[in-house]
Amino acid sequence: MTPISFEFYPPKNDEQRAQLDRTAKKLAVHAPEYVSCTFGAGGSTLSHTPETVRRLKQQHGLDAAPHLSCVGGSREEIRELLKLYRAIGCTRIVALRGDLPSGMGHPGDLRYASELVAFIRSEFGDRFRIEVGCYPEVHPQAGDARADLRHFRTKVEAGADAAITQYFYNADAYFHFVDSVRRDGVEIPIIPGIMPVSNFSQLRRFSEACGAEIPRWMLRSMQSLGDDAAGIRELGADIVARLCERLVAGGAPALHFYTLNLARPTQAVLDRLG
Ligand code: FAD
Repeated sequence: MTPISFEFYPPKNDEQRAQLDRTAKKLAVHAPEYVSCTFGAGGSTLSHTPETVRRLKQQHGLDAAPHLSCVGGSREEIRELLKLYRAIGCTRIVALRGDLPSGMGHPGDLRYASELVAFIRSEFGDRFRIEVGCYPEVHPQAGDARADLRHFRTKVEAGADAAITQYFYNADAYFHFVDSVRRDGVEIPIIPGIMPVSNFSQLRRFSEACGAEIPRWMLRSMQSLGDDAAGIRELGADIVARLCERLVAGGAPALHFYTLNLARPTQAVLDRLG
């Protein structure tokens, strides 16, 4: 069976905490290999990620991995956070650069995720399994695809164990990316990041910001459903399930679901996959 993992974001109030609890409980029945919890660069959710990781571990019995982004942080702050994660029994870290919120001046001590990976390895050895991000449709700030691949390889050479992709709806982008990194001698697992469809207009805004492409056929099919939220959910689940099937048939070693703390869209995809 293909291993799966779920990504959550840290809730900030009681209502959001209750929602995460409901979602984690529903999705836990799918026996994820692990779950992860995002980290807000520059401070906004800084204190909520450790608390959420602890909650997912202790209350839900899930192997929870914190995301850790280096932008805006000092070496000392990052070291302290890693010590805290070690103390609460975390064995995995998703290591990222992050994006500075606009208006935030200080870039921090580490400029790129490769420097964060090297820092974790130098301070903590093999204490953590390290996952990093990668971009089958090319990171939006990369000079070009070749440069992005080169930087990805540097990150792997710094000590990453596996990579999770930005989401995409075009399976060929993933297969092309995997072929390219293998040609470059990169052997680590490349795990597709899967974004189930819930709110389509939000997904369009998101996709523009992070450089993920919504194919024209998918966009037009969704648009033709207008305000039919149930129809959009059904079509979205069909499209994403077919994508997952193609990815797994083509050799994807695992699937990582961006849940946005909602159970239903991910569940609808998993139900179709049986
Ligand atoms: P990097 O690998 O550092 O790359 C960033 C850019 O810099 C790329 O364009 C790369 O080509 C370029 N680059 C790298 N090294 C060099 C170099 N030496 N010289 C010149 N250019 C270079 N963000 C959050 O804030 N919190 C999260 O929890 C979070 N979770 C994520 C989870 C996943 C699976 C993914 C894919 C992304 C996540 N993000 C998160 C978003 C991520 O932080 C952004 O995409 C960010 O812009 C890049 O992060 P990175 O770790 O890929 O950066």
